[in-house]
Amino acid sequence: MSLTPEEKQRRREERKRLKYEREHRIIYDVDHKLCTVCNTYKPSTTEYYYRNKHNSIDGLSNRCLECEIKISKQWAKDNKERHNELNRKAFKENRWNIKNIRRENSKKRRENGKHDEWLLKNPDKMLKYMQDRQHKNHNINKNEWNNCKEYFNNECAYCGLPLSQHYFTRKGITKLGDFHKEHVDHKGNNNLSNCVPSCGSCNDHKWKFDFEEWYNLDNKRYSQERYDKIIKWLTDDYKVYIEPPKPKGKYTRKSVG
Ligand SMILES: [Zn+2]
Ligand SMILES: [Zn+2]
Repeated sequence: MSLTPEEKQRRREERKRLKYEREHRIIYDVDHKLCTVCNTYKPSTTEYYYRNKHNSIDGLSNRCLECEIKISKQWAKDNKERHNELNRKAFKENRWNIKNIRRENSKKRRENGKHDEWLLKNPDKMLKYMQDRQHKNHNINKNEWNNCKEYFNNECAYCGLPLSQHYFTRKGITKLGDFHKEHVDHKGNNNLSNCVPSCGSCNDHKWKFDFEEWYNLDNKRYSQERYDKIIKWLTDDYKVYIEPPKPKGKYTRKSVG
């Protein structure tokens, strides 16, 4: 026997209704859905379930968000290489705007101390991190550096911390230390035209972010006054203090002397 199209349609609807009833339950007036992995009823919303456009019944995944995340974390652990490869690919194509998301996360982690925690737990990464940072060169003589600090009132150009309070701890000993010669443009010049004095904390948090991207109203260290001063220094005022580079070579000493 063959079914009429109407009958087929009716049965299809009936199957959907039954499936919906099996998976859903009203709890405290809220529609809940059963997760097929943890066997728990959770509110049938995108807060608890990923969307799944192939699910014609409620448009949601059959596994709750928590379970989905657990499963994909486990998968990433078991398939490290494939996972890294996919990550690299996504990054290259900037899928889901992943580059921005990573930058934002990185910024957050530096502000809330998670980055420091991670470094402490990973001594080998810590070593590499320190080495990377020390690779920055500077083409600034002592006089220029002193004038630069003087220009900024011997305060961190970003947060205003006075040099007289710039303590750091090394090997368990806390002592006063000099500011960092901060490259405002991470990839820019090594001379005074791209340098402001920065405390260790700001130096660490700015990392390789662009100045404008990092130093703005969202940054609790930000002040309009200091921002203006940095801009003024970088565009004009450094020129007052920058000295012509010393000529190199073995004959120069005599001719200068
Ligand atoms: Zn679940
Ligand atoms: Zn600072």
